[in-house]
Amino acid sequence: MVEEVKDEVKVEPISFVEEIVKNDLAEGKNGGRMQTRFPPEPNGYLHIGHAKAIAIDFGLAKKYGGVCNLRMDDTNPQKEDTEYVEAIKRDIEWLGFKWGDVLYASDYFQQLWDLAVELIKQGKAYVDEQTSEQIAQQKGTPTQPGVNSPYRDRPVEESLRLFEEMNSGKMEPGKMVLRAKIDMANPNMHFRDPIMYRVLNLPHWRTGNTWNAYPMYDYTHGQCDYWEGVTHSICTLEFVSHRPLYDLFVDWAKQVGGDDQPLDDNRPRQIEFNKLNLTHILLSKRNLLILVKEGVVNGWDDPRMPTICGFRRRGYSPEGILSFIDKIGYTKFDALNQMSLFESAVRDDLNKRAQRVSAVVDPVKLIITNFPEDKVEIYTAQNNPENEADGTHEIEFSRELWIEREDFMEDAPAKFFRLGPGKEVRLKNSYIIRCPQENCCKKDADGTITEIYAELIPETKTGESNANMKIKGKTIHWVSCRHCIEAEVRNYDRLWMVENPRDEIAKYSDEHGGVKGIEAMRPFLNPDSLEVRKAYVEKWLTTRKPLDYLQFQRIGYYNVDPESTPDHLIFNRTVGLRDNWKK
Ligand code: ATP
Ligand code: MG
Repeated sequence: MVEEVKDEVKVEPISFVEEIVKNDLAEGKNGGRMQTRFPPEPNGYLHIGHAKAIAIDFGLAKKYGGVCNLRMDDTNPQKEDTEYVEAIKRDIEWLGFKWGDVLYASDYFQQLWDLAVELIKQGKAYVDEQTSEQIAQQKGTPTQPGVNSPYRDRPVEESLRLFEEMNSGKMEPGKMVLRAKIDMANPNMHFRDPIMYRVLNLPHWRTGNTWNAYPMYDYTHGQCDYWEGVTHSICTLEFVSHRPLYDLFVDWAKQVGGDDQPLDDNRPRQIEFNKLNLTHILLSKRNLLILVKEGVVNGWDDPRMPTICGFRRRGYSPEGILSFIDKIGYTKFDALNQMSLFESAVRDDLNKRAQRVSAVVDPVKLIITNFPEDKVEIYTAQNNPENEADGTHEIEFSRELWIEREDFMEDAPAKFFRLGPGKEVRLKNSYIIRCPQENCCKKDADGTITEIYAELIPETKTGESNANMKIKGKTIHWVSCRHCIEAEVRNYDRLWMVENPRDEIAKYSDEHGGVKGIEAMRPFLNPDSLEVRKAYVEKWLTTRKPLDYLQFQRIGYYNVDPESTPDHLIFNRTVGLRDNWKK
């Protein structure tokens, strides 16, 4: 009888963001077009939070046949740099995404200026000569209406003239700003005559000395989206309250531009999702820059950094990072995700791609007393049991081996299933060995064990007559003293000792007279976040290239550091084999 096999239709749950995009497309909005943008400010390197934004901005565009442009949000000339632009591009490509165009908010400076002039003419904007303190005071509170500026109703001509002066280079920064004339009593604080332009008198790395007055984020972002043809402007939750203002500026831009399409079509739609937030990690480029500048870490790509280039150097793969982001999903509520969840996703990914090798990180010598001194046996080791296509490599076996110090105990309890007097273990890819009951090790004057002795049991290698011999002991790894090479191993621990550094730093700052920057961070930094060790590794590792994924068997996942050379091998520990966050 033939059993009936029912097709199981597996429906992948989609995020609320994707749901919106799908519905808009189904309704034929924007002429069935779909376009997004990823808008980083080039004031630092991208971090893991950005990977979450990248995954949805680029991911949805790809899935729905749209385009995602890379738009540099470069409206703060004092903090931005081309170094960052290049780094941002590198990281996005490494994650596996392709942008349509590379655009800059500064491409729109003239258009934004012209729009502002038009809005002044229409009585929708005015130059305010009050100080920022006065403006802040008049803002009111969410429950208390604000107060109109005395300059609010000044003649249009005056505002036009002063706006020109704001950009002349002769106006002192802070002396005046351009504000939108909206509603000082609106319950949404962003509507209380928001600032559109401020004077900076700084050259811009792209526009040079053309501009002295620069547009604010809120006055820039929506119009850039609109002019570019963005249909879905995906951002994070802190912008929810900005959305009405975003929409208003887009309305104004549409009207001034003579766009007679209905207001709800041919326009970008802002959608907000929850930021990525991880335990034991501090994000925000501003904070990461402090760690770099203060030398707490060795640059933006230090493997302890939560930057994309830091995770890359640490040995995380793009697939591992994206699979974690996929797991946590996109919601409308802020959350704090566990670092252990991230590591577990990365471990699952590395299990599939890492090449298995032997490395002894805390070596002690083991002598196989019944193996001839000049004899060498050569074994074939599988590179990756999870993927046969990865092939094999050769390893040498000889009389003197390095093993891990912790794999031997002189007065081992019965439950210690490694080496000790009378105990047996299997050497990975090789023989079963047994330590003698008496005189199984030698010590120096301090009592430190310097040599361990064991005998191999003949015919116990794979395929030999005694291969299936049952023993209680485990399989341990080893390298041949004569054939291995020395390597530098960098083991990383958490950079922050507290689960939520952002909150702890803020609290510390409050309690200590508002100390800022590195002073407020230092109490929470782990002084032992980097441990450098010498290890003995298989010679085959000299053939590995920077960023190759490795598993040091029984120890952890490691990656070849970009500065590693065959003469000086350097490995970074990506993650241990098991979760050790609970300790
Ligand atoms: P930072 O404070 O680290 O500089 P930002 O929010 O200012 O971050 P931008 O470079 O201005 O970063 O933002 C680029 C995009 O990345 C924005 O759409 C922003 O919302 C998003 N983004 C930034 N941080 C996160 C995060 N932790 N999780 C998800 N998206 C983020
Ligand atoms: Mg920022």
